Amino acid sequence: MINFQYLRTTSAKSALALLQKDKNSKFIAGGTNLIDLMKRGVTAPEKLIDINHVPLKQIELIGTKIHIGALATNSAVADHALIKEKLPLLSWALQAGASAQLRNVATVGGNMMQRTRCGYFYDTEMPCNKREAGSGCGALEGFNRMHAIFGTSDKCIAVHPSDMCVALVALDAEVVLLGPKGERKILFKDFHRLAGDTPQLDNNLKPDEMIVRVEIPLNNLAKHSYYLKVRDRASYAFALVSVAAGLELEDNKILSAHLAMGGVAHKPWRLTKAEEFLKGKEATEENFAQAAKLSMENAKGFGENNFKLKLAPNTIIEALNLAKRKA
Ligand code: SF4
Repeated sequence: MINFQYLRTTSAKSALALLQKDKNSKFIAGGTNLIDLMKRGVTAPEKLIDINHVPLKQIELIGTKIHIGALATNSAVADHALIKEKLPLLSWALQAGASAQLRNVATVGGNMMQRTRCGYFYDTEMPCNKREAGSGCGALEGFNRMHAIFGTSDKCIAVHPSDMCVALVALDAEVVLLGPKGERKILFKDFHRLAGDTPQLDNNLKPDEMIVRVEIPLNNLAKHSYYLKVRDRASYAFALVSVAAGLELEDNKILSAHLAMGGVAHKPWRLTKAEEFLKGKEATEENFAQAAKLSMENAKGFGENNFKLKLAPNTIIEALNLAKRKA
């Protein structure tokens, strides 16, 4: 680990000013991923700007949207009465992530910015295009059991590790970013990127911007939603496959379906075709199976992760069944 300068700030404006002053600086809040990356030599910022005292911890209903500050901890969001009542899908997804100790310090913004857990990315002796552009991808023909089956490129097949982000995509969230020219808002589904030819870029945050909050519109999914995470052990494990499912039901008719997957792509993977197929249909096992089949178009395994080609559709069907029964 290299020496670095530690700075502390109490406002978003001063945090941005410090960031813009030195391109090789990074924000730190919970630090649950960043410190690992620094210890392993994957990243080496010269300055760490501690933003824990910037007032961005709000969780509140404003009009028809729930606003969650970037520095609200994962535990605070998961346990908040408003989130449990209105957005239980988000609460369950957060509870499925990491351990209680980590959730107590990890923040919403940090969760969004966490990096892949691909083993080659963390091993600086190994080739990895994400860590060092042009060095190759060790996982393509190597250990790739945890890796992507959708939206892959010949440069990188890593997955985004977050559970929270999968739920936020399914819930039509937006992200508010603050930069030198003020705030801009983007859809959560457009925040993270596919690897393409630039696997070093995980998301569309500009170098001189910071995440300030997430906004989630109220919906009618609370009665019929479920976050199903399939993993190697019951806690503190990343998803092999996860599904965030929300159904708006009238009798047994689906008025709208909200579906996203985790553990399968470089970004949370929205199942748009399945959502369109299910809209207006009966909530039956047959329709759920057809939705799962549609979701698997263009899926591709890389050897060790071929099992996901079966696990993923089965998880979609099960998540939809559990969401239907939830009420
Ligand atoms: Fe690196 Fe991506 Fe290949 Fe993993 S999958 S070794 S992160 S380039």
